[in-house]
Amino acid sequence: MANEVKRKIILHWNCRGLSEFPEVIRLHGSHIQEIYLKWNKLTTLPSWIMELFNVTNLYMYGNLIKQLPTEFGEMSQLTVLDLSANKLEQVPVCIGNLSNLKSLLLNDNLIERLPAELSQLSNLEILSLSGNQIVALPEWTGSLPRLKELYVDNNKLKELPNRLTMAAELAMISACSNRLRYLPLNGFLSAPCIRFDANEYLNYVSYPLLFQLLSRLQMTAIHDRAALAFGCFKTHYNTNVLNTNIKLYIEMKGLYETNDDVIIELPRQLLRVHEAHENVTCSLWELALRKVYTERYKHTLDVSPTNVTILYKPLSKNIKPDFTWSSMNYALYSLLTNGPASICVNSQCQQPIFTEAWIIIGISRHAESMITIALCCSKSCATAFATCSNTTIKLHWHSIN
Ligand SMILES: [Zn+2]
Repeated sequence: MANEVKRKIILHWNCRGLSEFPEVIRLHGSHIQEIYLKWNKLTTLPSWIMELFNVTNLYMYGNLIKQLPTEFGEMSQLTVLDLSANKLEQVPVCIGNLSNLKSLLLNDNLIERLPAELSQLSNLEILSLSGNQIVALPEWTGSLPRLKELYVDNNKLKELPNRLTMAAELAMISACSNRLRYLPLNGFLSAPCIRFDANEYLNYVSYPLLFQLLSRLQMTAIHDRAALAFGCFKTHYNTNVLNTNIKLYIEMKGLYETNDDVIIELPRQLLRVHEAHENVTCSLWELALRKVYTERYKHTLDVSPTNVTILYKPLSKNIKPDFTWSSMNYALYSLLTNGPASICVNSQCQQPIFTEAWIIIGISRHAESMITIALCCSKSCATAFATCSNTTIKLHWHSIN
């Protein structure tokens, strides 16, 4: 073993029945760069692993690891860490110190939540968490500045963070087989590929997202909703869900093959919704959010069946300190940093919408078999949008909260 370690830069010691990280690597392996110890029987890593200064890739797939020593966080040269198919119930917080990490693979463990320490991984490009027990992804996953690929299939997610819509480099989100009830309503800045098959309670998409999904497929219309995602857009809804999100009861009038009416659930940011013709005044809270946001960001969304154009940028370079959070304004801080629930779909307007909207629910000519919703910032925008988008069958609805 010692001779092998001395001769090699990459160690392939998969499937060797090892129950401890071989000490021979400590003695002779300070030059080793990659270590493969897949399908062994390790339950942890030794604290001396931090002495392996040159290891950049560590593949520990298929062991019995439950925890890591704190010293592991000192391996800041690591770029690839694969701890998939182990016994982790929690993500070791020391991973948050691996500042050069580009790929973090934690698939098929027993993880329920992500620690805030991972939000420090500013070079992370691939985050793979499929096959765990995660109920909610933190909003900060949308703020990992280099994140390109996010895999969260086979978890228990009810929603995706709204902040993902503002991630600059995201190219892939895979969230199949979860419990998603909706996708973020706003268009995604980076127009990623989004896989969301087998989320059986997901029964609608927003107007901006529909066209982003269609443009990914290089289609302007679909007849079979399974083209967008298989096993979604069913008309049933799990009524055992206890949460405070707004739920809307939609009269289908036999438009689907079944005659069932449909209940949809709106993202939790939305606190009040109105029918397109409802003449009410918008809350001061909502108006203030829109004003504060548009003073700091240019965020626009232009949707047409052939093209979705999104622009998002801070208006000033030194805006960093202006959203600071304290217990006083945490709600304000989190709404502003997580981004608007939607941009008003009236292309002449493009105001951000945070908590209150006029909503148009219908069946679009571009996706005849599924419910599409569009949010407007005011009654006049809703009227204007409803008039110009004469391609939609509008559906009647009422709130059931
Ligand atoms: Zn508007």
